Amino acid sequence: TGIAPFQFSINPGRIVFGPGSLAQAATEIERLGCKRVLIVATAFQKNDAEALAEALGPQAAGVFAEAAMHTPVEVTEKAMAAYAAAGADGVLTYGGGSTIGLGKAIAWRNDAPQIVVATTYAGSEVTPILGQTEKGLKTTLRDPKVLPKTVIYDPELTLGLPVAMSVASGLNAMAHAVEGLYAQDRNPVSSLQATEGIRALRAALPVIVRDPSNRAARGEALYGAWLCGTVLGTVGMSLHHKLCHVLGGSFDLPHAETHAIMLPHTAAFNAAAAADALAPAAALFGGAIGAGLYDFASSIGAPKALRDLGLLETDLDRAADIAVKNPYWNPRPVERDGIRALLQRAWEGARPE
Ligand code: NAD
Repeated sequence: TGIAPFQFSINPGRIVFGPGSLAQAATEIERLGCKRVLIVATAFQKNDAEALAEALGPQAAGVFAEAAMHTPVEVTEKAMAAYAAAGADGVLTYGGGSTIGLGKAIAWRNDAPQIVVATTYAGSEVTPILGQTEKGLKTTLRDPKVLPKTVIYDPELTLGLPVAMSVASGLNAMAHAVEGLYAQDRNPVSSLQATEGIRALRAALPVIVRDPSNRAARGEALYGAWLCGTVLGTVGMSLHHKLCHVLGGSFDLPHAETHAIMLPHTAAFNAAAAADALAPAAALFGGAIGAGLYDFASSIGAPKALRDLGLLETDLDRAADIAVKNPYWNPRPVERDGIRALLQRAWEGARPE
């Protein structure tokens, strides 16, 4: 029947990829038309941010190293004050999804151009999506003005990403691509990106587990993460992202690990309803996508059970209730009993059929 009709909005953005590409930060800041950027990081990556500030000299307006999980509005307000006080005209975020969230939150408020040095596989750097927390409530918005203008992917900066974090973050990236494959608004290009992203991470993660400083594998994983993030930024997400949002938002479970545990179960849930769309991914995992992803995740030492993240069995009913409260599109209809059973299996860490 040929190519189905599609609509495809491509996000603008410049990608600078390669080992050592951090050295191009100065040129990229200039290319953006910025004179002095505020460098944003977490406390954990403060030393890296300060080293970059030193290398940039007058192009660095200062370092704000207080980025935190879930982009709390109080931190954003403090960062806005630091931006103004430093006389910055742009933001350079150095880190993972939490740090990038803060850069986006600044840009959303003052239109600051952003350049991102991405050091995990979460993919936020290539999406126009911003999640923020105020008074314990997490809200998500989509606005082209939060999309970073330039992304530097330097695999050298990921050599020190701990193995456990690399595994969880890599599966987090894969989840964007798996859901992208069956997205209602997918298109042939987003499906190519998703399949190639999954392939690259599928190949790279086992090597990283054995040899965390393997440069070729680190490069391939970061390349896969870029593709998977691009899919997240392009097409709609369904059950998997919805459930992870509930578990993170209402039960405070850690982001990447929750994605890693849930992916085999949500993929298994949708496997029959989206068999054709998922076929390229299923082929990479030996045929049955749910069990295949579960075995792969086990083989690289990923966390397997929600109970190991501290979730109580008595929380599962409430999680299922919240997850079905607001309807959204999913290849297989979402009903409470099915979701409750899925959550039970994920809580126990059972292998999907
Ligand atoms: P993170 O940014 O919270 O990073 C976890 C820790 O690892 C931090 O302390 C960080 O400083 C450290 N770290 C990062 N890179 C490192 C490296 N290369 N070496 C050593 N340490 C490093 O974790 P994350 O999983 O990247 O991001 C999760 C957050 O991002 C969540 O809040 C999630 O909602 C958000 N997110 C948003 C989007 C979006 O499109 N808006 C997409 C994905 C994730």
